[in-house]
Parts: sequence; C-alpha cells; structure tokens
Amino acid sequence: MSRATTIPAFPDPAGPAAVPFSFEIYPPRTEAGLPALYDTIRVLAAAGPRFISVTFGAGGSTTDRSLAVLTHILRETSVPPVAHLTCVGSTYADATAVIREFLDAGITRFLALRGDPPAGTAEADVDLGDLESAAQLVQLIGRVQAECSPYREEQIPGVPGAARVEPAEPVEISVAAFPNGHPRSRHRFEDIDALLAKQAAGATSAITQLFFHADDYLSFVDRARAAGVSIPILPGIMPITSPSRLRRVLELTGEPRPDDLAAALEVAPDTGAQRAVGIAHAAGLARDVLAGGAPGIHLYAFNNHETMLAVLRTAGVIEQEIHA
Ligand code: FAD
Repeated sequence: MSRATTIPAFPDPAGPAAVPFSFEIYPPRTEAGLPALYDTIRVLAAAGPRFISVTFGAGGSTTDRSLAVLTHILRETSVPPVAHLTCVGSTYADATAVIREFLDAGITRFLALRGDPPAGTAEADVDLGDLESAAQLVQLIGRVQAECSPYREEQIPGVPGAARVEPAEPVEISVAAFPNGHPRSRHRFEDIDALLAKQAAGATSAITQLFFHADDYLSFVDRARAAGVSIPILPGIMPITSPSRLRRVLELTGEPRPDDLAAALEVAPDTGAQRAVGIAHAAGLARDVLAGGAPGIHLYAFNNHETMLAVLRTAGVIEQEIHA
C-alpha cells in the first residue's frame, strides 16, 4: 500500500506547511509538584502543539491531579487538553462517574485505555472489572457524552433569545496502538484486530506506543490500513537520554532492545553527550516517519520541556526559540 506524503488527517489552523505535533505529560506525585508542571505547560503551550495529553494512573490513582492539570491547560492556555482514562478493574458505575466528572469540567477529548493490571498479575488472574478492553471504554465515553449533552445550541445573530439546536458534536476519542505488538498479544494480528475493534467502537484516532525504528511504525500503519483501519495513527516518540532510561523503558513496554541506540548511549562520554544522542535519535525518527506519511508527531519526554522542544527543533518541526 502506498504511503501518503501530505498530512491531512488533523485540521491544521497553522497552515498546510506546519507539521502537527503534540505532547504527553503526567501529573506530579503530589500537589506540591503542580507549580513546576504548570511552568512546563506554559513553555510547551507556547510552542503551538495540537494538544497536550495528561496520563491517568491505572485504577484511578491520579484522578484528582490529572483533572487539576487538564483544567489548568483548559483555562490557562489555548491548547486543547486530552484526558487519558483507564478502565481496568473499574465497575461501569465508577467509570461512568469519572467520565461525567471530566465532561463536566469541560474536557471533550480522551485517550481511552484498558490500563495495566497491578505488576506481577498474570493475564488469567486480572480482575478486569466491568470493562474488558479499551474498545468498551470508547463506547462508554461516547454514550455518557451523548447522555450528558445530546444537543448544542447556537444563538441566531440578530434574533434575541432564538437558538439553532443541533445534535452535539461527538467527543474525540483516541486509543493506543502497538507497532511492535502489545506484550500480552497472543499473535501478530491481535493488535491490528484490537485497533479495528476500537475504531468500530468510535475511536477517532490512535497514538502509538514508543518505537525505535521508523519502519516499525510505517510497516504497522501499512498493515493496519490493509486490514481496514482508516483513523489517523499518530506516532508516539520518546527521546531516550541515558542508558538507565532505556533499560527502564524496555522493562515497562516490552519493546525489543534497539542495539544501535543502546550502543551509542553506552559510548557517549557524559550525560550531556547521552542527551544529545537521545535527542538526535528521536529527531531522526520524527523526520523519517513524517517523510513516510505520519500525520504528525506525539512526544513523550517525562515532563522535560527542554528535551521535547530540542527534538522538534532538531527535526526541523519548529524553527525558533519559544518565548513563553
Ligand atoms: P486494549 O486495546 O484493550 O488491549 C491491548 C492489547 O492487549 C491488544 O492489542 C491485544 O493484543 C491484547 N489483548 C486485548 N485483550 C486481550 C485479552 N483478553 N487477552 C490477551 N490479550 C489481550 N496506561 C495507564 O495506566 N495510564 C495512561 O495514561 C496510559 N497512557 C498510554 C498512552 C499510550 C499512547 C499508550 C500506547 C499506552 C498507554 N498506557 C497507559 C498503557 C496501556 O494502558 C497499556 O499498554 C495496557 O496494557 C493496554 O491498554 P490498551 O488500551 O491498548 O488495551
């Protein structure tokens, strides 16, 4: 299948030449960490991302702090926030209550995830709760939103008190995709099948797990398209700036070890040189997936705005210094 070279998938207010990019951040462990994160958000927002997504601790462990960060982005910046939500172990009632709370706070974009069971739990022993997969959470978000605000009203100019009533816009719901397979996948097509199920449930886009070679992403997109996945698939890229970070990320994601990057990080003489290796590697990946038709770039960088912006500058996605 041929790969598109333009980027029509996301609306682009900055003009057709601009490459869409977005960031993922996570809430701090305690409320005391919020002011520093708000500084980071100010700098990231000034770069003009398409959205900033905020992670959600499995089991709802970060609900209040995630929501505080999301509402801060909503009120203090012009960047749309995207709320990650997980469902593993939740009842319908609990998941519905969380979705309502987020909708009531003005959040209309979600990244719907199953979430990971507690570490060390075998798949057979996982207490899934009422929602067994991310696809079911996608459906639930759509249903709750339709119940909360089935219509929107638009005032008719010049006719005081009159309004045009239309069905509400559906919420935007992203989902996760796994170019190199999910660690729990039983066969190589299961991840494409899971993505098709999420699309059928109403997902409007997907964001990938991190990967280390452009072809991991590009060949996955080709396989997904051939199987009938038509939603945009945004590549998730993480700059890996030290050997210890690489080890930790491989443990968490189950991704295969990238020998080239691992060797470059090992021989870099100091932390500054390691950081430069990680930024150059992530920027090269960004350039290559964009050249292959990716609809934008989504960056994960452990809340480090300097690293995220350095990747975008090195990739030629943003040009100038950001003044926040
Ligand atoms: P699903 O799509 O429901 O399933 C994942 C995979 O598991 C499928 O692709 C399939 O291969 C396999 N599978 C599905 N059902 C079964 C089954 N019954 N038996 C065996 N295998 C099965 N986690 C958090 O806790 N908080 C976050 O904020 C968060 N953000 C993330 C953001 C991104 C972009 C990504 C890629 C992941 C994120 N995660 C987060 C991690 C995610 O929750 C885990 O990867 C989780 O294990 C899978 O979630 P999912 O939504 O892809 O699940």
